[in-house]
Order: sequence, then structure tokens, then C-alpha cells
Amino acid sequence: MQGQMMKAAVLTGPQCVEITSIPIPEVREGEIEIRVSACGVCGSDIHMWKAGKGWGKGDMPNFTMGHEFCGVVTNPNGSDFKRGDRVVFWANLYCGECDMCRAGLEHLCRRVDGTNYIGFVCNGAYAENFVGKAKNAYLLPDSVSDVAAGLIDPLMVAYHAVRKANIKLNDKVLVVGTGIIGTMIGELVKKSGAGYVAMSKRNDRKLSQAKKAGYFDAYFDSNQLDMHKQMKKATGGGFDVAFEVVGAAETLDTCIQAVKPGGRVVLIGNSMTETIPVNINRAVLQEVQLLGSVSCTRQEFSDTISIIANGLINPEQYVTDIIPLEKLQETFERLISTSDPILKAVVKP
Ligand SMILES: [Zn+2]
Ligand SMILES: [Zn+2]
Repeated sequence: MQGQMMKAAVLTGPQCVEITSIPIPEVREGEIEIRVSACGVCGSDIHMWKAGKGWGKGDMPNFTMGHEFCGVVTNPNGSDFKRGDRVVFWANLYCGECDMCRAGLEHLCRRVDGTNYIGFVCNGAYAENFVGKAKNAYLLPDSVSDVAAGLIDPLMVAYHAVRKANIKLNDKVLVVGTGIIGTMIGELVKKSGAGYVAMSKRNDRKLSQAKKAGYFDAYFDSNQLDMHKQMKKATGGGFDVAFEVVGAAETLDTCIQAVKPGGRVVLIGNSMTETIPVNINRAVLQEVQLLGSVSCTRQEFSDTISIIANGLINPEQYVTDIIPLEKLQETFERLISTSDPILKAVVKP
């Protein structure tokens, strides 16, 4: 099948994605080829789009992003998959040999870091076809649609974070951030038994899906100077758990202030700078627990497929836009606009 071409959205420079025709990659040992059915557009793609390059070292010819994807197997290449199987890829690359991988913590693999994802360090799936490791592919049940499968990646992040937070019946929970992950955390914590779920937001731009779904009991406006006082009053002394889904000093501070003494803050947002200031005295003197959370375990990736399949959550309700590859550039422009209500776009190449 060598020499065949495919349509792909190639990152050609800062803030520039171009639709071109590039060769379908060669299928090497341990890899399979799929025809891409859907690929979610992620907030982390925006950072690469702005920079005009991926995270990989060295030259990355025809660099194509896209790490939230599913498709139909076109070349099983001796794997357990059959031609025509629907599969979703776990974008998290791992060695499978180090102590973390052997302990079932592949997302913390010693040989990779948190950014070692398909579509970051190697070509992703904003294209008609994708070739990648068979061990990263999982069979999709018929009850999980292509578009829903395009949301498994942000859902697995939300699922892992909620499990880490160890939510108890009737807990009061705060989500700081209005993106897709924060929105889905609201639904998952409510379904885990939280009694009161609130979101802190700077504006209402992306809230219509969350409001329609109805899992948040309250929204706090971070522009109001007395927001922390309002939160304390509404919760009778502070939240049990706060999720930081932005990755900025101000929003982390909100979380540390908003939890009750001994409360937990789950850190999901990444920062473009390595360090940000932290109110250390509040954290130490009130025994606030800070818990980092990234990706999910390999088992939790399978769990994420089944929580959609069994109807615990329908991620399609949060999709605002289904677009062809040709609209990707325009979609990135909309995502960075301060007035566009876009929450989650899924590409159908
Ligand atoms: Zn993503
Ligand atoms: Zn490893």
C-alpha cells in the first residue's frame, strides 16, 4: 500500500494549519492503520497551534496534531484486530517495561513525561488515516458513537481526577474552569454522590452546555471581589474538594482559599511556565492537600469507554461543533476568541 496519499491538516507555522495531501505513513511492526472517523479538538492543541510546532525533538515533517480519535481498522498488520473493527486510541505513549508501567501506572511511565502523547511528539489524527501502535488501540462497543469516542480523552482526564479526589456522599465540590474537562467533572462528581457542586467562572461564554446538563448547583463569578466570602457562606465554611482545571496562579489560589481546613485540591490544569506562586501558608497551616492528576491509568482508559457504553455519561451532549478538516484553522481562531461560545469541537475528516 506504499505511496498512497491522504488528506491531512498540517501545522505549517504559528497559528497556521493547512490542508494538504501527504503520504500515508508506512505500517511498521506492532502498528495498525486506521481510517479516522472522528478526532476531538483539544485545548492543548491550541498551545502547539500558537507556537507552530509540536513537542517532539528534532525535525517533525508534516507535523499533524490530533490525539482524541477513533477510526476503523484498515490494516490490522497481524494484531488481534480485524479489518473493519472500530477502535479508539489511548494517546498516552508508554514503554511497558519500567517500574511504573509494570505497576499499572503507564501514565507515569519513567521513559516519557506528561506531554509524550500521540499528536504532540509524533503525528496525530487530524488526517484521513492514522498509523500507530496496536497496543494503544482499544475496541469500541457499538453503543459508543464516533463523536462520543472523540471525547474519551478529556473524559478519561475528568474520570481519573474524580477518582483521585475520593468524593464522599454529600461532599461540597468546586470546579475552577469552564472548559470541557471541568464541565464533565461537574457531572461525574454529582453522579459520585456530591451534594453541592459549584463552578467558578470568569465569564459565561462557554456555560450553555453545562447549564443545559444541569449538574452544577451554583456559579461563582471570579470578577467579584467578595467571591471567596460568597463561597464560604454558600458552603457553610468551605468546599471538601476543589478541582483546578486552568493552570494559573489566580485559579490555584481560589482553590486553596475555597476548601475547608484539611480539604483537597486536585490539580489538573498545566501551566505554560514551570512555576507559579502558591499561598503556602494557607496550604500548610490549614493542611490543604494538593494532588496532581494527569491522564489516567490504562485500566481507567478502558473504564472510560465502558462508562459511556453503559450510559453513565453521554459526552456528546457537550459537543458544540462537528466540523470537517477544512474548518480546523477557523475553529482554532474561534477557540481563542474571547466571545465565541464554542465548548468542544470534533473533526470528522
Ligand atoms: Zn486532549
Ligand atoms: Zn514505562
